[in-house]
Amino acid sequence: MTATHAFWLAGRQATGDETFDVHNSYDGRLVGTVAVPTQAQVEEAVAAAHAVVDEFAATPAHVRAKALNHVADRLTERTEEIARLISAENGKPIKWARGEVGRAVSVFRFAAEEARRWNGGDAQRLDTDAGGQGRLALTRRIPKGVVLGIAPFNFPLNLSAHKVAPAIAVGAPIILKPAPATPISSLILGELLAETDLPAGSWSVLTVPNDRMPALVQDERLPVISFTGSGPVGYAIMDSVPRKHCTLELGGNGAAVVLADYASDKDLDWAATRIATFSNYQGGQSCISVQRVIADAAVYDRLLPKIVAAVEAQITGDPADDATDVGPLVSEDAAKRVESWVTEAVDAGATLLAGGKRDGATYAPTVLADVPADVTISCEEVFGPVLTVKKVDGEAEAFAAVNDSKYGLQAGVFTHDLQTAFRAHRALEVGGVVVGDVPSYRADQMPYGGAKQSGVGREGVRYAMDDYTYERVLVLTGL
Ligand code: NAD
Repeated sequence: MTATHAFWLAGRQATGDETFDVHNSYDGRLVGTVAVPTQAQVEEAVAAAHAVVDEFAATPAHVRAKALNHVADRLTERTEEIARLISAENGKPIKWARGEVGRAVSVFRFAAEEARRWNGGDAQRLDTDAGGQGRLALTRRIPKGVVLGIAPFNFPLNLSAHKVAPAIAVGAPIILKPAPATPISSLILGELLAETDLPAGSWSVLTVPNDRMPALVQDERLPVISFTGSGPVGYAIMDSVPRKHCTLELGGNGAAVVLADYASDKDLDWAATRIATFSNYQGGQSCISVQRVIADAAVYDRLLPKIVAAVEAQITGDPADDATDVGPLVSEDAAKRVESWVTEAVDAGATLLAGGKRDGATYAPTVLADVPADVTISCEEVFGPVLTVKKVDGEAEAFAAVNDSKYGLQAGVFTHDLQTAFRAHRALEVGGVVVGDVPSYRADQMPYGGAKQSGVGREGVRYAMDDYTYERVLVLTGL
């Protein structure tokens, strides 16, 4: 019998009238039962957060930094336990789950450091014309109000950390809504927050069902929405609240470009290994996993067999096993969707070079070549362990191929040439260009977010802090 996981209402644990179950998608076992807040409890959490907006903004930086460091310390101490839980609820291989806890530790540490040094302020001289003589402008950043953080299933701890830690760093109350498939790691985060001295109303973790989210999204006491998830849901939220500040971190179909100068065996081995690893880590369920390989004709024929060999070397299996590279997708339905997209591509003329098989919720690491431009997998985010490879002639064609997408999250460019790197940075319509590696590289302090339909706004601790606040100017006269 698994104990029911309570949610967190204004800093204290609570249960409601309903529960839902969380299952492991690899073997179907019950991971936990989670309590659902009633409407009245959601209202209580929102009212409590709204009531402490001023008090929390005035909480000294050292108090907020201490709380953030405490969470980082406790995550570090409980790494193995929490990683096992993430692996169980999400299906992610344990080695990647450990890495996710480590990244969440970094997010809380960065937020603690930023809380101490950040004031977001500026001083500006106004004596630039006669009317401004004797005047000075100072700015400081003020929290916009309560943040509603909505997290996806694929990095259930770290992407919740990316909502919560910057909010605490600026003194903005936060209501976190985890994904229904993976809420338990966010509820554990609540345990760690409850050990701090933060004002009780300043944070809640509410397991609100999706069909009750529109009321919360509409609530005027929550002026900031920080959403990470799929485009249709994100854009529907933003369209429904045009006067709110929305950050949308959405999907992508990340491209890795391998250019002609990246040609030694060592180069191609590195590129192939990185591509194979990061098209499959998390079962390809990362918004910056490698979905498209775009290789110059000068290296294509040598690169392709190396990629296929590296993909076939990925070990698929039980996510709890240390040796496993690729676990199940979040559900059997998700694996069936990926299977149908691969079948559609093959039926339309694509060549299957590896994988292409499903076993329950697990989909085998797959490589496709000669993929027609108009099939679903060429146009949409696959969110599964499948990569497509395309041959191009030269840098300009490669960059055009990257940009031939409605998405624009990150791109990887394998080149040694500095000028090519700068040209890629200028030409590629993405939020980040990674030179010498796959698009999947992300450090948690970097500005992170999309161009085109990959999103609006930026995360990366300090950038989210900017997002959660606005500049208020103070003009001093008679100086
Ligand atoms: P999703 O859109 O299904 O759900 C995201 C969150 O929105 C969940 O918490 C869900 O419960 C909630 N939600 C669902 N309906 C809602 C509604 N009507 N109102 C308010 N909230 C609602 O996404 P997912 O399947 O959990 O995550 C996968 C997607 O997330 C992929 O597209 C992936 O690329 C994207 N993603 C983007 C980033 C990024 O930083 N750009 C990072 C990770 C994942």
